[in-house]
Amino acid sequence: MIDIRNLHKSFGSVEVLKGVNLQIAKGEIVAIIGPSGSGKSTILRCMNLLEKPNDGEIIIDGQDITQKTIDIKKVRENTGMVFQHFNLFPHKTVLENMIYAPMKVKKLDKKVAIEKARNLLQRVGLSDKENEYPSKLSGGQKQRVAIARALCMEPEVMLFDEPTSALDPEMVKEVLAVIKGLADTNITMALVTHEMGFAREVADRICFVENGIIEEDATPEIFFTEPKSQRAKEFLAKVL
Ligand code: ADP
Ligand code: MG
Repeated sequence: MIDIRNLHKSFGSVEVLKGVNLQIAKGEIVAIIGPSGSGKSTILRCMNLLEKPNDGEIIIDGQDITQKTIDIKKVRENTGMVFQHFNLFPHKTVLENMIYAPMKVKKLDKKVAIEKARNLLQRVGLSDKENEYPSKLSGGQKQRVAIARALCMEPEVMLFDEPTSALDPEMVKEVLAVIKGLADTNITMALVTHEMGFAREVADRICFVENGIIEEDATPEIFFTEPKSQRAKEFLAKVL
């Protein structure tokens, strides 16, 4: 589903991604971990063209999205992204947040969009909140709405960038439970996270990013018990 080859990205004269290679099969869940500033967010942001790669290929669902002729809107439709901060529209209710893009971008009929939104709200356990404004929700609830909103577009791929980092500890679990629920739906996921226990439990593979490259790519079992590189060992010693 995703095939990233030799991805390079610089900001000014600073090269942040130095040849990232990453393949993710359909339905696979890959956790991207690594120190702060190593390039994890930049990898995700290149995957839906929030950043423009300088070099390399990013093939998603058979299409090289780095080609000039690509329709960025279509790419983003197919690639849902959930950020640390929830980015809900503050002046729209939960339901309005959810139906906006499906109606505007996918030209979905309002009734159909609402029905879909309600199904997804049920899935994230927030059926009773459809008429609330984001300011009335807890951080965990907002993030669950953000996930449901992304799913309304029926993306093939979901990208999560530290979806629980801004949450109080008691809300982390409810959001992780929703993400875990998605794991059974055959959606393809790349998840940047500091939740090592969760990564180990849910991910099919762990990609350890260090200094702009994927330093290690292994099953959780292998990565957490016998990391190969010294960098990964040091990182794990700090976070575990
Ligand atoms: P991570 O998500 O692993 O913490 P990032 O991908 O956010 O790392 O950032 C990698 C490096 O790129 C950092 O040194 C960061 O300061 C730099 N960087 C990220 N985005 C920008 C930007 N828009 N302009 C300049 N530098 C950036
Ligand atoms: Mg980041």
